[in-house]
Amino acid sequence: MAFTFANVNKKSALIRENSFFDLETISDGAVSADPMEALTTPEVLHDLSENLDNFAASGNVDDVVLGAPVPRPTNSFGIGLNYQTHVDEAAMETPDVPMVFAKLPSCITGPTSDVQMRSSECDYEGELVVVIGPGGKDIDENQAWEHVIGLTVGQDFSDRGAQFMNMPAQFTLGKSMDSFGPTGPVLVSPDSFPDPADLELQTRVNGELRQHDRTSSLIFSIPKLIAFISRFVTLTTGDLIFTGTPEGVGFRNGVFLTDGDVVRTYIEGIGTLENRCIQI
Ligand code: ZN
Repeated sequence: MAFTFANVNKKSALIRENSFFDLETISDGAVSADPMEALTTPEVLHDLSENLDNFAASGNVDDVVLGAPVPRPTNSFGIGLNYQTHVDEAAMETPDVPMVFAKLPSCITGPTSDVQMRSSECDYEGELVVVIGPGGKDIDENQAWEHVIGLTVGQDFSDRGAQFMNMPAQFTLGKSMDSFGPTGPVLVSPDSFPDPADLELQTRVNGELRQHDRTSSLIFSIPKLIAFISRFVTLTTGDLIFTGTPEGVGFRNGVFLTDGDVVRTYIEGIGTLENRCIQI
């Protein structure tokens, strides 16, 4: 049975409509309060989700601040140039193999956290984020969805100056600055969607629609990304893959984020991130 998982006050929880259910409580301790540990028991999450009628809700989602559903991933990857429209706006060549960079785990934050900008060249990239469940090495593309515990929304905030300060470009630091990886608001199991590979994505800045596409436009699909990355790195429960962004980022027009801007990132069936940009 499909489940929706969240990090409520640093504790693992299941969500149904507007209610949250503390997982340690409803499982009688069988599921850890630690979201990272809770994600290692997907079967229990599925079972409990099916039986939520038997439990009293622990509270209302509107009354709490949600954290990153996966607060401390071991590995966190970003994918560059994975929508043709974005390849075109960046005036780059379509890659033959996935372009993978590190989005360091230390930048991962929650769905409503502020973004700290240290330059005047910071930009947004709305993205679907894949969360690995059962890990593995050399994962077969045909079995790759079995290694996905859920999908969430991510913002791949990028300091374009830092991203392109080296020749050849080294993306890691410019995309991993403190606070540059908001995720959430929840993690949704793949079986929750009619088609988890075809979800609408939107990014708005101060309410203005800047990015709008569907994840079915990915050049390298989720299974292809998992198969490719796991040739190099053993994937572990909670690992994140930011799958790339469609067209509409700011740098193509030389328009960057400014102090007080609010970036809203929405994906169908998951929810919306809302992040205020603070110039420091
Ligand atoms: Zn990106």
